[in-house]
Amino acid sequence: TALPLANRVAVITGASSGIGEATAELLAERGAKVALLARRADRLAELAARIEKNGGTVLAIPVDVTDAAALEAAAARVEAELGTADLLFNNAGVMLPSPVVELRTDQWSRQIDINIGGLMNAIGAFTPQLVRAAAEKGVADLVNTSSIAAQNIFENFAVYTGSKAFVSHASRNLRTEFGAKNVRVAVIEPGIVKTELQGHVTDPGATAWLDETLATQEVLEPSDVAEAVAFLAQQPARVNFQQLTIMPTFQQ
Ligand code: NDP
Repeated sequence: TALPLANRVAVITGASSGIGEATAELLAERGAKVALLARRADRLAELAARIEKNGGTVLAIPVDVTDAAALEAAAARVEAELGTADLLFNNAGVMLPSPVVELRTDQWSRQIDINIGGLMNAIGAFTPQLVRAAAEKGVADLVNTSSIAAQNIFENFAVYTGSKAFVSHASRNLRTEFGAKNVRVAVIEPGIVKTELQGHVTDPGATAWLDETLATQEVLEPSDVAEAVAFLAQQPARVNFQQLTIMPTFQQ
């Protein structure tokens, strides 16, 4: 019997670690051809080798999502080498909390440029393919990674939570442009997942809280979120789960 995602062409941003890496592996296992996008070429090459070894079809493209022209070039390569993309998992992101009075404007900019700018650059580069793929196949998927930070309040996370509120609300809005074209738009809002995300935090207070939580609670695994992405992609064409919150059981 055919694998559930056979004939699908999936693009994953932030594929070099964490949620993106796990999702690329799972979608490939379910039969999708996968394009891996992130900056760290060595990590993408390792993942691509693993996917190929398991019988998958994969294309690794080192790219910075803040570079719109590089994403356009990546999109052209995906179409030429794997076929028209019918799933974009728009997932690259950074989380850099700090008290606003410390004026870490460098970290504000990185979060805004990657979480908002990078998300929109990928949408700009790949949605023309999603629309064409949907016309041919009857369905395509745009899945954006937001966070429970889009809904909840976390002290010292103003810029990150704001960037994720953008992701969630823009996703709701984009359904008005894409729904009629058979492109589903979904946003996933995970609670805490054990990944490299927390490792980039420089604020001591936030680090202490995150380290304590990771050490004492059973948080989500990246593969748990990957299952949610596969679940969305495997729905019948008429079904668009618009927003999916996935929490570790302990977390409020
Ligand atoms: P990781 O740090 O493990 O993964 C982040 C990914 O984003 C990496 O592959 C990284 O690759 C990529 N990335 C970062 N900056 C850029 C850039 N400029 N260009 C291209 N790729 C970039 O963390 P997660 O897997 O946890 O994060 C994935 C998403 O999940 C993020 O959007 C995050 O906000 C969200 N999220 C995470 C939660 C958690 O608790 N972990 C909870 C809720 C949401 P590289 O450095 O190689 O470029």
